[in-house]
Amino acid sequence: MMKVSIVGTGYVGLVSGVCLAEKGNQIICVDMDQEKVDKINKGISPIYEKDLEVLLKKNLNVNFRATIDLYKAVLETDISLIAVGTPFDGTEIDLSYIKEASRQIGMAIKDKSAYHVVIVKSTVVPGTTDEVVLPILEEASGKQAGRDFGVGMNPEFLREGEAVGDFMFPDRIVLGGMDKKSILAQEEMYSVFDNSDVLKTNNKTAEMIKYTSNSLLATMISFSNEIGNLCAAIGGIDVVEVMKGLHLDKRLSPILENGERITPAFTTYLQAGCGFGGSCFPKDVNALNAHGKKLGRPMWLLEAVMKINEQQPRQIIHLLEKHFPSMAGIPIAVLGLSFKPGTDDMRESPAIPIITELISRDAKIKAYDSVARKEAMKLFNDTDIIFCDDLDEAINGAEAIIVLTCWDEFKDLNHRISRCEKQPLVIDGRRMLNKHSIERYEGIGL
Ligand code: NAD
Repeated sequence: MMKVSIVGTGYVGLVSGVCLAEKGNQIICVDMDQEKVDKINKGISPIYEKDLEVLLKKNLNVNFRATIDLYKAVLETDISLIAVGTPFDGTEIDLSYIKEASRQIGMAIKDKSAYHVVIVKSTVVPGTTDEVVLPILEEASGKQAGRDFGVGMNPEFLREGEAVGDFMFPDRIVLGGMDKKSILAQEEMYSVFDNSDVLKTNNKTAEMIKYTSNSLLATMISFSNEIGNLCAAIGGIDVVEVMKGLHLDKRLSPILENGERITPAFTTYLQAGCGFGGSCFPKDVNALNAHGKKLGRPMWLLEAVMKINEQQPRQIIHLLEKHFPSMAGIPIAVLGLSFKPGTDDMRESPAIPIITELISRDAKIKAYDSVARKEAMKLFNDTDIIFCDDLDEAINGAEAIIVLTCWDEFKDLNHRISRCEKQPLVIDGRRMLNKHSIERYEGIGL
């Protein structure tokens, strides 16, 4: 068990902090946002994530607390995790938060007599931990890495919407380190996570594993979308059936000796839809592309992955245009606003470009998302969009309904609209509905 400070208490920092505390470590979460820290110390989670608030309340003031005092937090702990944001600035990865956090941790290490370990948990392009973080720590502390303190890299693989479960029962733990001692400290922190595959490696490889994982998943989504768009253009083909046929390949869904078939979760990434979003896939693939270009190794495939994704929300607009060449004054219900179910995260959600386009065409928009409503209202606060309290209110009177997030609540949409006087057009951006159960149905890849 370790005393751990976590710098940056966003999705990753808070989930890691609460879960590591639940497993018996002593955690101090640090954030520069006083409001966030106050909320957390009152047992309120600033983000929506299943089970997070319950675990936060359980561990608060037992072996978990939050603070804005980074210096003290480092002095009082053995290991610091950096979990600050690493946005894409339009050209390359923005390391300003990483650099500032490293500088502040270094200043604290300067005044610490005991050995300390600093671990980068944020997603950073290969080379960042060794070539950016480590030198800043040395400079700010006046001490020597490897002798006075250790440096490691522990990428995070949690999925928003399933973050607590993913952290508590990880499929893999990747521990990068500049030396054995830096890895050992992380092993101690994770010592109670049994049954998980642990991969020990150097910092650069750990960094690359994270990008490779996200890039593959993003590639599968863009691949499916490109196939879906072609199916729609050819006509008489439904991409859902095509993908079903693909999934039945025994190399994708293996058949056991007893004849039973396994359907691996990754086949859910081989499905067409209105595009990927979130705080990770777009920014990480863009960052890797930029890094490749900088090294004279352009990433042709991953550049195409991003191009396909950027145009994918337009498919929804094209489907709508088929029925409403002019959208001015047309009542349209947008169902689902977050980039995926289980979260209120609106970052890079396909709902943003789609709603923006509908606004520019003067459609009368009603929007509904029981979880992401507040976040969406912040983004579209000076618009005429009506944010509805319940699903029926949103679809009532709509001439078109667009489904953009795969929330369970939308699964029985066919029953709800069967009560409508005039059947609205339904555009299924996630191919989650039974196309035969809806009178006027359009879907991606159909
Ligand atoms: P976030 O934006 O939700 O949180 C970052 C937090 O860091 C903010 O609360 C900010 O106030 C704080 N911060 C920034 N600089 C600070 C400083 N010097 N001192 C104290 N606090 C500081 O970010 P996130 O979504 O948790 O992502 C963090 C990192 O983890 C990113 O690199 C991301 O790519 C990676 N990651 C995210 C996810 C995810 O699902 N969100 C999954 C895996 C990896």
